[in-house]
Amino acid sequence: MKEANFYAGGALDRAAPRRKDGAWVASLVEHSESRFVVLWRGRSLVLTGEDASPRAAFLARAEMGAVDCEPVLLGLVEKRAVFAVDLSRHEEPFSALAFDGRAEFTDLRRVGPLLPRAEGSLLAYARGIAYWHERHRFCGVCGAPTRSEEGGHVRRCTNAACDASHFPRTDPAVIMLVHDGDRCLLGRKPEWPAGMHSTLAGFVEPGESLEEAVAREVFEETGIVVADVTYHSSQPWPFPASLMLGFHARACSTAITLDPEELEHAAWYERCDLVGREDDDTLRLPRRDSIARRLVEDWLRG
Ligand SMILES: [Zn+2]
Repeated sequence: MKEANFYAGGALDRAAPRRKDGAWVASLVEHSESRFVVLWRGRSLVLTGEDASPRAAFLARAEMGAVDCEPVLLGLVEKRAVFAVDLSRHEEPFSALAFDGRAEFTDLRRVGPLLPRAEGSLLAYARGIAYWHERHRFCGVCGAPTRSEEGGHVRRCTNAACDASHFPRTDPAVIMLVHDGDRCLLGRKPEWPAGMHSTLAGFVEPGESLEEAVAREVFEETGIVVADVTYHSSQPWPFPASLMLGFHARACSTAITLDPEELEHAAWYERCDLVGREDDDTLRLPRRDSIARRLVEDWLRG
């Protein structure tokens, strides 16, 4: 079995059957052994000890202050409950906490690759579900406010005549390394860091299989026709709400016709030119915590 990608593979028991029990969840919120990961406006609370690599901040109940925000039960780690709490409604999040350690709210993308893998996956989960809660405060059916239930894994409409349940969503996106013998196709978007090139990617549309989405996105962005679409692995990517589904695909045509709205450059890269190459401003591979990097590196290894 392949090693899990970054932001996946944490040893978490999601306790899905038990989190429907509101009394059980409420008792865990007050339990001294429970731990809380804290978010504020899309940023994660990370410890910042001197000379130390960043670590996720797991606060105890006593450090959480009044906690007037709806905690989301992420699950159990070694039988200890871990919740996510989003303090975005507070202008000054530290003033809402009773925590005086050294910590800061940081974009997970900045520290993700430096965190222990299990902590990175918990913070990614927390970020993804907090984003969903933030955008589902009102019912998509009737417009009434919704409230959090089942440990934060459902939002139910407060309009009794409607009573719709809304469940956390994640957006499937395909990401694919296209190969043609000993070369692979990489492209770049204009907003990316200098020289960065990556595999192509795009969102799955309703009514479309993953294989169809791979073929469509590659053709739309580069005019290349692919076949032999094979699944590689997947990665939670809560920036803001995706599940990346990774594939390799074989090119049936090789002439590139760029869609300038999507890419500013795309080209074929020889395996021998990429193996062992140092990143620079003419060509750098995707960030190390991304499945894109994994797709490229696994292909390079043959
Ligand atoms: Zn409703």
